[in-house]
Amino acid sequence: TKKSRTRLVMGNWKMHGSLAANAELLTGLRLGQADPAVEIAVCAPFPYMAQVSVALAGSHISWGAQDVSAHAQGAYTGEVSAAMLADFGCRWVLVGHSERRSMHGESSQLVAEKAVAALAGGLAPVVCVGETLAEQEAGQTAQIIEQQLAPVLALGAQALAKIVVAYEPVWAIGTGRTATPEQAQQVHAGIRASLAHAGAQQTRILYGGSVKASNAASLFAMGDIDGALVGGASLVAQEFLRIAAA
Ligand code: PGA
Repeated sequence: TKKSRTRLVMGNWKMHGSLAANAELLTGLRLGQADPAVEIAVCAPFPYMAQVSVALAGSHISWGAQDVSAHAQGAYTGEVSAAMLADFGCRWVLVGHSERRSMHGESSQLVAEKAVAALAGGLAPVVCVGETLAEQEAGQTAQIIEQQLAPVLALGAQALAKIVVAYEPVWAIGTGRTATPEQAQQVHAGIRASLAHAGAQQTRILYGGSVKASNAASLFAMGDIDGALVGGASLVAQEFLRIAAA
């Protein structure tokens, strides 16, 4: 049931930040009150993992990365392994964000392989799925989500118990155009049913796409929305904390 799934509000900084800007943001986040009803996390760019791990050590906020290699180690220039991230106390990693699917040609199969690599390295993968505007307008949302999730569902119940799914309609990302709570809930309910069919009862499903403090509460009120993946609004401590408190 929803009550047994702790709400998770996760920031995705994308390619934003600097040592100075991060220090200010992280200090602001630490000042927020710990609430046992909500987990808070931030996903930072690779070079800042050490800074984040020091700045958030001993706090109630966990941290993650935005991508991971599907490989454990070797001749993969430019890639970063799950074990390297785990070295910095990383708990989460986004896999299959739509910006990586569209700009880096990541297939759903590769995304599932990255999820496996993350789990093997002791990280919890946050598997991102979502349809484009054209797909939504063509009435293909359910089918696209099903296709994107299929290789992940095939990993089995044990893996799925450690995974988080994030539904992020591409047309809502960075556009200021959020899915309505009802639209999001409908997709989340479909994902919930697929997860249950694969043997996963407790997997958390986050909504992402122009989440702000002003719309978070209405999204969180829906039965199958267990939290949010927040881009732009996670770069300002007060706004992000207000989302977590919504
Ligand atoms: P946004 O991004 O909140 O800026 O729309 C969300 C995401 O892409 O994770």
